Amino acid sequence: MRPPLIIVGSGLAGLLTAILAGAERPVLILTKKGLKDSNTEQSQGGIAAVWNQQDSTQAHVSDTFKAGAGLGDKQAIEAMSTQSKEAIDLLVHCGVQFDRNEQGEYLLALEGAHSRPRVLHAGGDATGTEIMRALTREALSHPNITIIEQASLAEILTHKQAVSGIRYYHNESDLIEIECEEMVLATGGAGQLFCYTSNPPTATGEGIVLAYRAGAQLSDLEFFQFHPTALNLKEMPNFLITEAMRGAGATIRNSQGKAFLKDYDPRGDLASRDVVSRAIFAEMKKGPVFLDATSLGHLVLKTRFPNVSHACLNYGVRIESEPIPITPVAHYLMGGVKVDLFGRSTLKGLYVAGEAARTGVHGANRLASNSLLEGATFAMQVAKAISQDLRQIPTLWQDQSLTQNKQTRPQTEPNAPPLSRSEFRQAMWDYAGIIRNEKGLKQLLNLLGAPPFHPPEQQTQAEYELQNMRHLGRLLALSALARAESKGSHYRSDYPPLEEN
Ligand SMILES: Cc1cc2nc3c(=O)[nH]c(=O)nc-3n(C[C@H](O)[C@H](O)[C@H](O)COP(=O)(O)OP(=O)(O)OC[C@H]3O[C@@H](n4cnc5c(N)ncnc54)[C@H](O)[C@@H]3O)c2cc1C
Repeated sequence: MRPPLIIVGSGLAGLLTAILAGAERPVLILTKKGLKDSNTEQSQGGIAAVWNQQDSTQAHVSDTFKAGAGLGDKQAIEAMSTQSKEAIDLLVHCGVQFDRNEQGEYLLALEGAHSRPRVLHAGGDATGTEIMRALTREALSHPNITIIEQASLAEILTHKQAVSGIRYYHNESDLIEIECEEMVLATGGAGQLFCYTSNPPTATGEGIVLAYRAGAQLSDLEFFQFHPTALNLKEMPNFLITEAMRGAGATIRNSQGKAFLKDYDPRGDLASRDVVSRAIFAEMKKGPVFLDATSLGHLVLKTRFPNVSHACLNYGVRIESEPIPITPVAHYLMGGVKVDLFGRSTLKGLYVAGEAARTGVHGANRLASNSLLEGATFAMQVAKAISQDLRQIPTLWQDQSLTQNKQTRPQTEPNAPPLSRSEFRQAMWDYAGIIRNEKGLKQLLNLLGAPPFHPPEQQTQAEYELQNMRHLGRLLALSALARAESKGSHYRSDYPPLEEN
């Protein structure tokens, strides 16, 4: 009997890999908080797929490549797109109920920068909740799957440049060690590095930095997508407000009530996500910014935007009669642990799927609704690879030079200034957020100092988590400094895009 396959993370990528791998062997899922605490649960709009004759892989690949500012990996995009139908069939097989029309056909939404309607959704704008409902039910009833909640990965252990085990905190106190030769990292994104984010508290990017410390290569950390409109109320989560509201006629205004976006771009409120985010960011330096949806009227708000209306009301904002305080937010990390087309990292035995992976499909910016698709298709690839690699070591891992750059544990830097979680997140927002430049990034690096390192047994889980976030923040800042150009989501005011020169 093979030992259980260890999967860390219980979002779409972790659960789907577990369900597929569970057909062959026992699987142990570890997850940081509760089973459903994930970005997947929060996802709204839907999942992209080449579903019917009116669409084609070629068109989807071209849209994805263009959105990524030409930096995407065409082979990876093609692999994702050609498997999109199989991924949807698999999700449906697991019980996901996508929205259909009266004839029983799936409804396909047209989203920004897609040339065809190709986004399947569920419960209107509650796609993630439906995916998690179905996948958690499937995983919980699977005879081969065991799930441990409140289990936070603390270290990936290695021996001879290959995975040899893991250590994790259980219930924020005990440190438990398990031996294993292979594992799947599906720990999701890193929005919590910034003080404004759409991501839940579990999205700290820890898995990515732990993989790096174990010797895996990372890539594209400078590419972080910011979403222009999320609720901005003190001490409240930054609930995401769909861009479709502006499409329907809502207007962004400053504290004087002025609709200011035309001062930044002739397209005004309908300018691209990046332009709107930067304009709001600049205007927020002068005062609060609002999304005014009052002109849409009660009926439109109630029928087209029930989720947003309801959520805002819960936080005390009546959107039919008052403007919504907003901020841009850190939303999606395009970079992460570098993997091949089968989710293999450069560290032998470490597979990565979902937002924690840098598969190459997003390039410098993500096309809307491609992340759930990436998570599903790469979960399928990882499950296949794990089954195959047992029989033959992949060539990638025969090349010893790849893993010889093993990172030693960073040394404690006595002069590294102490930084609270909120100070750290504010500094990341100010200097490595929507608008970056050399001066600010260097200031940030000075503030962060060399990453202090205290092993998990010497500190609480919360302290250890902050240490990991700080280390990842430093790597992100170094990547942003190294890319002396503006590309996709990465905007350098000292290297503005060519059209602004
Ligand atoms: C508000 C919002 C709306 C979105 N809407 C869409 C959309 O409409 N379409 C789309 O395609 N994408 C959307 N996205 C992005 C998409 O949801 C994510 O990219 C995707 O769900 C990531 O899946 P994942 O399985 O990789 O990670 P997640 O779903 O985030 O799961 C990560 C898991 O890892 C666990 N974890 C983290 N660290 C550790 C640790 N140290 N130890 C143990 N466990 C750990 C977490 O608790 C969680 O269970 C949205 C994201 C947000 C935040």
